[in-house]
Amino acid sequence: MTDTLISADRLSVTYGDTVALDDFSLDIPAGSLVALVGPSGCGKTTALRVIAGFETPASGTVSIRDRVVVGDGREIPPEKRNVGMVFQEYALFPHISVEENVGYGVRGADRSQRVHDVLKLVGLSDHRSRFPHELSGGEQQRVALARALAPGPDVVLLDEPFSNLDAPQRERMRRELRKILKRAGATAVFVTHDQSEALAIADIIAVMRDGRIVQTGLPDDVYEAPANPWVARFLGDAILMRGTVTDGSVHTMLGDIDTSLPTGTGVEVMVRPEWVTPHVHDSGACKVTDREFYGHDQRVEIELPGGDHVEALVPSRNRMAVGDRVAIELVDAIVYEVVDA
Ligand code: ATP
Repeated sequence: MTDTLISADRLSVTYGDTVALDDFSLDIPAGSLVALVGPSGCGKTTALRVIAGFETPASGTVSIRDRVVVGDGREIPPEKRNVGMVFQEYALFPHISVEENVGYGVRGADRSQRVHDVLKLVGLSDHRSRFPHELSGGEQQRVALARALAPGPDVVLLDEPFSNLDAPQRERMRRELRKILKRAGATAVFVTHDQSEALAIADIIAVMRDGRIVQTGLPDDVYEAPANPWVARFLGDAILMRGTVTDGSVHTMLGDIDTSLPTGTGVEVMVRPEWVTPHVHDSGACKVTDREFYGHDQRVEIELPGGDHVEALVPSRNRMAVGDRVAIELVDAIVYEVVDA
């Protein structure tokens, strides 16, 4: 999983006054499932379109298997890049069967065998003669995926692959999509604005903001150690507290947090709600003021001695109720130096 299959280097794309990609660089390892995640308008689709060849960057290069496909004065058209694409709306041909849709871009003597194999891979062998309108949204998506995989591309690019599905179908399909891509041994990049989707299925997540990659890594690592408070907030719930360093620590409503930053540094301390662990104790200095029970866990609002409130996410076996006195244990905290924009 360490060989780089696709390398995007310092790409920039502008539309009039809008900067869609700004010095965008990303390496995609062979065999990995990469999620490109970021808020609406941050340039995710543009990045996919540049890799696929539907958009020409003003500067920068894209290489696939060490071959420059755009940049350095060269531009290889989309159909010659060996890239499969699954569009948001699937873009199936409505008047031909599932089988014909899947075989559309496949050439060679083993065409029908290849179509057969890919339909089996996505679990649609029984639906081969149907037309797209005779399929559910999830099935249409699998046809689109089969069509992208059938020619044996180096990489499959998927733009918001779940956006046309309802919530229960979405969850099922995202697991299925991951399994299919893994079974096929494919390298894939998918775009999503949904951070939970990215964390759930990607091997690697690349977080984008304003046309740039701000952090790349394993989902666990990026969630646990976000590069900055913005990434922390984008990827999940975060308690953010401002303060100033004095003698190797910063005073917050959750206690003093150690840091190696010098005295006088303005900082922002980030804590995930699940890093706050309340323990019920009659002489606890804090009090539970609200509680929402989710079954597997619970969200607990806690009043601190100074009157501030903080939210904790607690396993439900650690029973607590409104009015309970609690003592707080802080499992982790990250200190960021404040960089004023
Ligand atoms: P979303 O999650 O909403 O799909 P995105 O992250 O995929 O957004 P892009 O579609 O890549 O974002 O767009 C990046 C920026 O470029 C946006 O501000 C968008 O309005 C602008 N943009 C994209 N395509 C064009 C175009 N053809 N002409 C002008 N501006 C464009």
